[in-house]
Amino acid sequence: MKRSERVAGTIVGAAVGDALGAPFEFGPAGAFSARFPAPDTTGEMCGGRGWEPGEATDDTQMAVLVAESLLERDGLDPPDMFSRFQRWAASGPRDIGLQTRDVLTNGMPWDLAAAIHFQVGGRAAGNGSLMRASTSAVYFARGGRRVTMDAANRMAALTHGDRAAWEGTAIFHELIRVALEGTDPLDALPGTLAVIHPGHRERYATVLAPDWHPDQATEFNGAVWPCLGSAVWALRTTTGYEDAIRAAIDLGGDTDTVAAVTGALAGARYGIDEIPTRWTEPLHVRLPGSGERVLRLPQLLDLADRLGA
Ligand SMILES: [Mg+2]
Repeated sequence: MKRSERVAGTIVGAAVGDALGAPFEFGPAGAFSARFPAPDTTGEMCGGRGWEPGEATDDTQMAVLVAESLLERDGLDPPDMFSRFQRWAASGPRDIGLQTRDVLTNGMPWDLAAAIHFQVGGRAAGNGSLMRASTSAVYFARGGRRVTMDAANRMAALTHGDRAAWEGTAIFHELIRVALEGTDPLDALPGTLAVIHPGHRERYATVLAPDWHPDQATEFNGAVWPCLGSAVWALRTTTGYEDAIRAAIDLGGDTDTVAAVTGALAGARYGIDEIPTRWTEPLHVRLPGSGERVLRLPQLLDLADRLGA
């Protein structure tokens, strides 16, 4: 498979997972399969909870903001990325993570906002930096392991003061990097765990272990550890893109984000051709704060091309 097919699979795979999972957010386990028992049926992009059928949520909206900052600034420009996030947050997106919203609207400068939020509140290990990382993971992959993991840390820190969120995003970046090389990301887990911050290694080793099941999570999957662990579990226990997404959404909870993270990993592993057209056709991304722009499959493929170049 060509690298470009894996790159497209990563970007589109994340967006599809987000849009498919959104109507089931905060719902019970098994809700997706209860409604759509057989694979390969139509109507799975059903919309609901305020979302149109095929509409991607804040996960993908922010991933696009990340992509456009990286491409237009020709690299990581943290104040630029932060101000794009702020414009978006101020424009009233339909959904926005609690920690992300607080940091983007607390009036502090880009290099203090997340740290102060964490200092005051003590909780900043949500999955909000992980959920938007598909585009940056593609962009930095060619730089190698150190470069992509460092970039992940810095971008996560824009909104999340807890280093746990940085390390989870860095692990995700590295798994996408190796998947784009054609290596099974599951084989890269031990080596990746070995290079994250030692203070966070044990907790990630637990949720990324081959015998871990999402039922063993000690937090809601809106937290970064079980979110990443659940996505890796969905990848490990299935053999194709569709099944991985179904497994992720059927976990319940923060279904759009768990499915977006799963979708990026599965899209990188299996490539764009494994993502069904019945899912990519209705897919669209509204961008509040950026005019009335709506990205559809051709625009997402173009974005993937430029990120992977
Ligand atoms: Mg969302």
